[in-house]
Amino acid sequence: MALPVMKNYINGEWEQSKSSEIGKVWCPATGEQLAEVPYSTAAEVDKAVSAAKEAFEEWRQVPPLTRARYMFALKEIFEENFEEISKTLVREMGKTLDESRGEVRRMIENVEHSTGVTSLMMGSNLEDIARGIDCRSERQPLGVFGCIPPFNFPAMVPWWFLPYALVTGNTYVLKPSEQVPMTQSFIFELLEEIDLPEGVVNMVHGSREVVNAMLDHPDIQGMSFVGATPTAKYIYKRCGETGKRAQALGGAKNIITVMPDTDIDQALPSLITSFYGCAGQRCLSGSVLAPVGDIADELLEKFVAQAKSLKLGDGLDAATQMGPLVSAAHKERVLGYIEKGIAEGADLILDGRNPEVDNPNGFYVGPTIFDNVREDMTIAKEEIFGPVVSVLRAKSLQETIDFANSRGMANAACIYTSSGAAAREFKYKVKPGMVGVNIGIAAPMSFFPFGGAGESMFGTDKGQGPDVFHFFTNAKVVISRWF
Ligand code: NAD
Repeated sequence: MALPVMKNYINGEWEQSKSSEIGKVWCPATGEQLAEVPYSTAAEVDKAVSAAKEAFEEWRQVPPLTRARYMFALKEIFEENFEEISKTLVREMGKTLDESRGEVRRMIENVEHSTGVTSLMMGSNLEDIARGIDCRSERQPLGVFGCIPPFNFPAMVPWWFLPYALVTGNTYVLKPSEQVPMTQSFIFELLEEIDLPEGVVNMVHGSREVVNAMLDHPDIQGMSFVGATPTAKYIYKRCGETGKRAQALGGAKNIITVMPDTDIDQALPSLITSFYGCAGQRCLSGSVLAPVGDIADELLEKFVAQAKSLKLGDGLDAATQMGPLVSAAHKERVLGYIEKGIAEGADLILDGRNPEVDNPNGFYVGPTIFDNVREDMTIAKEEIFGPVVSVLRAKSLQETIDFANSRGMANAACIYTSSGAAAREFKYKVKPGMVGVNIGIAAPMSFFPFGGAGESMFGTDKGQGPDVFHFFTNAKVVISRWF
């Protein structure tokens, strides 16, 4: 049977790309090919941007509450198709069905939050800033925006931005990750059901050529990017050069501090989820486990036992607790880090290189743990983005704070403790932008900003929450006097 080929969605029409360059979409659980994705051309990007630009003039005049009503309608359609979206996501990305359901729920929450546009987009005014002179600031849409998301949250990440761009009166061009293009393709089929005016939302599949064509396009006003730090830096720099607004969220190297006063049994389930949820492919995943003082041995004994017991498998199987990695290439990359850890002298106390799985063709790496990791080792410095835990035994809370603040990437950091004072000191002093206290995945909900610091976040406006309302609008100030 012929494999499905992903289509672009431009000006309200589904179009086959004319590109001869085609990528493959894999099922990580089985290693089978699921679909083909075209690497579209700059001309196809231009067509989508032109459609979005033309749609903008009319769309910006649609009253905000009417724009919000499209989102209310979309929420209903997403709810009706909740399971189907979640299963599509599992098939191409590999996470478990429950993890996918969580992701789709977060996506819908952004649609819900965006419907508050009538108050969240409001400007301000002050009379008599000088005698008889009034001043007001109005938030206006800017035009066409673009989005480049990563592979690990194929449903949610574009929706940290897209609904907000639309309700504020902008129009949109999305390029899904070429590794996982099927989920957004299905979501766009659902989007079609709400009958947005043609050109308001567009989707162009592809890889770097599409990204570069978007960066070069004079009619794109701003870009929202989420992905690895080197790509984030590149996007941010190019947006600066071409005069675009940019919010570019990068990679992570997150530390989880465990203080000696922690109740291990209470902490354990969320610690395991932090390191092994989504097979470690979350920007909020724990990567470095830092037990402070003499809790280390007991914590590790229990942590290793729990990690060992995780059932690996196809995310669609209800018994599965951890899915595969997204691709064969990513699996090789993670295995490379395990080799490096061994070569640099860390103690491999749980080896996930040859896990027991039903389908050996899937891209599986089992839970892996290195003990006695030093700060200068590669596995303590670089983002692995897999189920590999580096244990850094620390003598003090300050040592773990210093560690968190010494990494360039400062996305998230968490502390487990029963001391309010320790928790406060940690959250007060650490650089990372998202902090968990007795929480292993410090994920802000849609009405709070999502984003890190340092090399994990380029730009000032983060994803979701009040920040995106700023990002997608320009504060125009009008100062008036009437004679
Ligand atoms: P990636 O940077 O390789 O790719 C992200 C997007 O950029 C893709 O759509 C891809 O097509 C495009 N791209 C990749 N290289 C490019 C290049 N050289 N030029 C132009 N475009 C390019 O990231 P990924 O592997 O898909 O995703 C994993 C990364 O995303 C991890 O580093 C993870 O930490 C990060 N991430 C961060 C957050 C956050 O909130 N900070 C959230 C999710 C994922």
